[in-house]
Amino acid sequence: MKIVVIGSGLAGLTAAAYMCREGYDVTIYEQFSEIGGVTATVHKEGYSWDIGPLLLEGLAPHEKLGKILAELGIYDKISIIREDRGQVLPDFATWRPKDYKGKYWRREYFKELFPSQSEGLDRYYRYYDQVMTLMAISNRLEWAKGLETIWLKLKIFPKFLKVKKYFDKSAAEIMDSFFDEPKLKAVFMGILADFVVKPSEFPGLGVPVSNVETAFDKRIPIKIKGGKLPVYHYIKNGCEQLVDAFAGYIKEKGGKIHTDSLVEEILIDDNKAVGIKLKSGEEISADIVIASGGAHKTFFTLVGKEKLPSEFVSNVENLVHMESVLMVHIGIDFDPTPHQRAALCYYYGTYGIEEAVDRCRSGDYHEGEEGFLIYIPSVHSPEMAPPEHHAVTVYTIAPYILNKGNWNSRKEELADKLLIEAEKIIPGLREHSTTEIIMTPLDFKSRIFVEKHSFGGLAPIMNQQSPPHQTPIENLWYIGAQSESGGGVAGVVAGTRKGILKLLKAI
Ligand SMILES: Cc1cc2nc3c(=O)[nH]c(=O)nc-3n(C[C@H](O)[C@H](O)[C@H](O)COP(=O)(O)OP(=O)(O)OC[C@H]3O[C@@H](n4cnc5c(N)ncnc54)[C@H](O)[C@@H]3O)c2cc1C
Repeated sequence: MKIVVIGSGLAGLTAAAYMCREGYDVTIYEQFSEIGGVTATVHKEGYSWDIGPLLLEGLAPHEKLGKILAELGIYDKISIIREDRGQVLPDFATWRPKDYKGKYWRREYFKELFPSQSEGLDRYYRYYDQVMTLMAISNRLEWAKGLETIWLKLKIFPKFLKVKKYFDKSAAEIMDSFFDEPKLKAVFMGILADFVVKPSEFPGLGVPVSNVETAFDKRIPIKIKGGKLPVYHYIKNGCEQLVDAFAGYIKEKGGKIHTDSLVEEILIDDNKAVGIKLKSGEEISADIVIASGGAHKTFFTLVGKEKLPSEFVSNVENLVHMESVLMVHIGIDFDPTPHQRAALCYYYGTYGIEEAVDRCRSGDYHEGEEGFLIYIPSVHSPEMAPPEHHAVTVYTIAPYILNKGNWNSRKEELADKLLIEAEKIIPGLREHSTTEIIMTPLDFKSRIFVEKHSFGGLAPIMNQQSPPHQTPIENLWYIGAQSESGGGVAGVVAGTRKGILKLLKAI
């Protein structure tokens, strides 16, 4: 069987790896000159920066990405570095204390800051523990076989009942049920600004999941009731190591990867995918087409609305996407760690996450004032910068379309403004910058060939129905951040694996 995969991001690479593993004839077509999609690492004048993911969930041996890499036999192709990050709000900050103060040190710290919220904090952390246990068991269930499956299902049921009452609640409702202090709510909801989703839209169960305490202190023991906590890792020398590990596996198994190969059309005959047509005009036949990339581009441009059921078309039309990012990579000739003690820190300039997301969606760009993150990969991987120098990335969420002006004409000005904000944390960034790469939403758009660039794909909104892996067109499968897999590195890789296992059963 001849398999065509569209796109060489982690979704496409995962799909190709699993199909090659089964001995199929697999070819990936990638429109850009390099592979990796947003998991690529860019290089300039001795510096390296990641253009996408930073501190990754899922890479430990007990987690899904770690298990998948082990299953493919490529875990040893990457080196991972366990880490945590800082979180700074306008009036206070959470940094891992020098001496370890136990797994609930943040709870006690917030009690000191907000004594009136003590009872709510105790309740929130009980809820957090319940959700973590539920997650730990359900993660084990995904990989369990035979009797262990039955045993885990029995175990998960009472845990599920404990948190069932929260299932229909939004993040805003959950936070209101624990706290009445907006500053404390913002601690747990700040990350939603990063997803460009409003607390009133985000599932409440996702609050603990996106605020795992190990993200703020890597010393917290991972063993909990029911299993293990998620933990966070950097990939040494950048995310391209992960991309190269997958690509190496594919090539070793006889798969092919073609870059500079834009797929313009998915060829369909009698509601069956039969191949693709490249921009060069070349037509390539295939028994199965596996497409990654934007949902609008895939279904409306490559397939065509007229070939799809109307219900499917209107679902894709109504999908809510995240907004984009403005990203500035610089190389500096001094040590920034006296100003930022960890490689990564999120800085928030506002407590009003709901309103900030609304503004971003309406094209009103905050110019860095409402928050950004600073990532210094050369802190954990010195090879990512020349000796005595550092690679620094500053980025923030930004509207895909600006209310005032456009990204082409305002690129330099807005990058400069973002660095001015970052200089409030690390002085001298601009003066000591020896090189720079600016990535606007338009640069991301052409890098990954989407209709509208959105940072992580579809917004994680309650009840949003992402397009399924198995599409209404026979032999056309859809994977990646905008599919039912959901966004995020671990989500995309694990979701694609699941989709491919389903495909393998179907053929
Ligand atoms: C700035 C940023 C920060 C992020 N941070 C994190 C993080 O900290 N943790 C985390 O887990 N996740 C993070 N993510 C999200 C995560 O990286 C993505 O969800 C995931 O990598 C998406 O993989 P993908 O394969 O679906 O898509 P992509 O990486 O976008 O790959 C799609 C590929 O398909 C190609 N393509 C599309 N259409 C065509 C066509 N017609 N013909 C040929 N090729 C085509 C594109 O060129 C691209 O290479 C971040 C993303 C971004 C952008």
